Amino acid sequence: MNHVLEPATSLVRREVAGLPAYDPGADPGEVAALSGAARVIKLSNNESPFGASPAVAEAVRLRLAESVSRYPDPTGKRLAEAIGRSLTVPAGRVVLGNGSENILELVCQAVLGPGDLVTTQAPGFSLHEIFPRVMGARVEKVPVTAGFGFDAAAWGAALAAGPKLVFLANPCNPTGAILGVGELERVVAGTPKSALLVLDEAYREFARPDPEYPDGLAVLRGQDRPWIVLRTFSKAYGLAGLRVGFGVASDTALVEALDRVRTPYNVNQLAQDAAIAALGDHAHLAETVRRTGLEIARVADRLRDKGFRVAPSSANFLFIDTGHRADRVTRELHRTGIIVKAWREPGYENFIRASLSTPEDNDVFVRRLTEICAKGKR
Ligand SMILES: *Cc1c(COP(=O)(O)O)cnc(C)c1O
Repeated sequence: MNHVLEPATSLVRREVAGLPAYDPGADPGEVAALSGAARVIKLSNNESPFGASPAVAEAVRLRLAESVSRYPDPTGKRLAEAIGRSLTVPAGRVVLGNGSENILELVCQAVLGPGDLVTTQAPGFSLHEIFPRVMGARVEKVPVTAGFGFDAAAWGAALAAGPKLVFLANPCNPTGAILGVGELERVVAGTPKSALLVLDEAYREFARPDPEYPDGLAVLRGQDRPWIVLRTFSKAYGLAGLRVGFGVASDTALVEALDRVRTPYNVNQLAQDAAIAALGDHAHLAETVRRTGLEIARVADRLRDKGFRVAPSSANFLFIDTGHRADRVTRELHRTGIIVKAWREPGYENFIRASLSTPEDNDVFVRRLTEICAKGKR
């Protein structure tokens, strides 16, 4: 997987040659072959076990034949307008991405150069580090507290160092923890006016029922500073395979800058139509959020009963201290047909991140994890 870049190595920029590879988790086909399991339980990518709204399949069916041979709308006008209406922002301040990951990348391309400083959190989302480093930027990662929370003092000091860009995920990935409104306001106030503040709300729909969880757009709306809030259709809306996310920016000049670096047809037409359909099905979203919330609470309690330390999560995944080397635990889980992600950041080598699935699959996961970790104690 991690092959050496020969013989092209001498051509590759130093920043690129030194990058860590993104870890997408184990391949389900390989895990099926390894385990002999009739059905692999994939808990590695925070996908929705409840799928997309039925309206999505219909939207895709209507557009399928045409969309294969025609380029998509390069401006994504209808989707941007639908998003604008639903959030009461002008469509001209909405930027669409081939997943919100694509917008993380566009933001780095538009804003960062060699030596620029980027501030983000650890443990964190690897692309918040990889994309800045592609541009030659330096990344400073602010650790979370011992209880997986936001460390206000450490963030204050890091922001005072004058970053050009700040990546903050709320809820955070991999911990699932949220910043409350006061904490978010401190980051906003502490981020230099000359810096771009990027608030990544990939899991916001799951956190919204929590009264402590702030609506990032509401907090940033009136701020006289550059910002962009990123959201996605991949997680709660269940469209991960179609690749569509969006950003709402502080001003149209930022959207225009992102448009300059954006590949013109970055979001295919099926994804655009599907996202409009998904956005319209409030009942499906509400049901996904409700069922996920119940499962998160239930599975976290069960794991804690078994003696595992589990970070408090307001998202659709759990960050679990297994008490053993996570790469070994993960390999053992693969042998039983379950895929989770072993965490690799320093200090978290015993942690796995497991996405929630259906109650049946989650129970199988808890049982196997408990067996594997009990065996490791002998
Ligand atoms: C999943 C995720 C995303 C975006 O995923 P896309 O599928 O590209 O929209 C962005 N940020 C974080 C923190 C995520 O976990």
